[in-house]
Amino acid sequence: MKPIRVRFAPSPTGALHIGGVRTALYNFLLARKYGGTMILRIEDTDQTRFVPGAEEYIIEALAWAGIEIDEGVGKGGPHAPYRQSERKHIYQKYAQQLIAEGKAYYAFDTEQDLETMRERLKKEDAINQQYGISTRGQMNNSLTVSAAEVKQKLDAGESYVIRLKVPADQSVELMDLIRGQVVVSSSQIDDKVLMKSDGMPTYHLANVVDDYLMQITHVIRGEEWLPSAPLHVLLYQAFGWQNAMPQFAHLPLLLKPDGNGKLSKRDADQMGFPIFPLNWTDPKTKELAKGFRESGYLPEALINFLAFLGWNPGTEQEIFSLQQLTEAFTVERIGKAGAKFDIHKAQWFNQQYLRAKSDSELAGYLLQSLQNQKIECSQAKAEKICRAMRQRINYPDDIFENSKFFFFAPTTFDEQVIAKKWNEEAVKVLSAYRDELKKMSEVSSEAAKATLDTVAASLGIGAGKILQVLRMVITGQGSGPDLMLTIEILGSDETASRLDYALKNIQPKK
Ligand code: GLU
Repeated sequence: MKPIRVRFAPSPTGALHIGGVRTALYNFLLARKYGGTMILRIEDTDQTRFVPGAEEYIIEALAWAGIEIDEGVGKGGPHAPYRQSERKHIYQKYAQQLIAEGKAYYAFDTEQDLETMRERLKKEDAINQQYGISTRGQMNNSLTVSAAEVKQKLDAGESYVIRLKVPADQSVELMDLIRGQVVVSSSQIDDKVLMKSDGMPTYHLANVVDDYLMQITHVIRGEEWLPSAPLHVLLYQAFGWQNAMPQFAHLPLLLKPDGNGKLSKRDADQMGFPIFPLNWTDPKTKELAKGFRESGYLPEALINFLAFLGWNPGTEQEIFSLQQLTEAFTVERIGKAGAKFDIHKAQWFNQQYLRAKSDSELAGYLLQSLQNQKIECSQAKAEKICRAMRQRINYPDDIFENSKFFFFAPTTFDEQVIAKKWNEEAVKVLSAYRDELKKMSEVSSEAAKATLDTVAASLGIGAGKILQVLRMVITGQGSGPDLMLTIEILGSDETASRLDYALKNIQPKK
């Protein structure tokens, strides 16, 4: 088997969409599985759509996601340059080769000529309304004007494009690894522009020439490129490269969460979830779109989630490290059906990955948040808080957000709980408990419980009855992590002083 060489070939027209990250991931998994090479090629030949910063964004996003590039932009390699705008001369050469062989031609038609052609064909109700087999003979191109005239026009610097001369009535076939056999008649394909009037190649020419020169073995890309694939096959044939043609795999679309249509940035905005891997500020509008990274998604969780959007391992297992994905991944297990983008599933993966972290890893996140807030905390205490909170977090920031009561004593109390539970019995137990805690220099969760039980029993009151009110006065909340562990973390002094505050400030119910 030839060494696998795959490429991710984004155009720097803005932030990388999450679907692009999935495309990059599938390419990467295939390369890693077979010890192949993952190439990053930047397809920037459409100068009108170039967006500054987009290329850097793509590189940073892939690095964050853990999708490593072996060869390409930012990395170099034997086929450099990997930025298409720097390869203009190469495409020129190949376009000229096709012209010399009569497989492509110069076209000098103006915008007006093209418009007139379209109107005429529309009026005639022509079956085929494209610039191609049935129309090229009536247009202003090197097939209809003499060689001398063509030379004259070129010498005079007249504007032109180079078009592919699509052969008549040929059945164009390709075997897509996901879609199966695709057959199209060449008469349905128009004479696509290969070189534009600005001297830049179109996507089609540059893409095929580069895939050939870079010895790409598998083209894995989004379904939106499937209609272009037959044209690409024709190009391989025109160049005589059919034996070096890569295998194609067109990935299913990412659908809106309800499965109705393609997922767009607008849907994501409306439903309040990110669609870009990292924050992106549109250079024109200055509008900021929040990324998965900044929204608290762990790259390994996002990768696991994306892997399942269109692929499945054929087993019940859902949690896969990148290494495990590499082992399990096969193109054969990619489905044809569009994949619903369910953000809740992404959240679930994030939760699973966060919970699988050790207390000390989670403490790292907490200590970072605390540092930002200039709050001091020891590593040991942070780890204990994380142990208490680990079941209650979806994102790293949740650890601090949900555990603020460890750092700030509550000053207001839930009226409803007070109305229901703040009674004479509660006051008696809480006062006695405070007094006991004051005598202790420290308190373990076991001691906290034993002391509460003893105090309550000595007053003839069930400890269970006051648990809710106890939680409320020391945390300010109606629910939370294990209460005795909470008391251990707060310490006996702090717990006693919070009880003291509540006993002095809450007015007993009349
Ligand atoms: N430049 C194309 C894109 O932006 C690449 C398509 C392909 O992989 O052939 O998606």
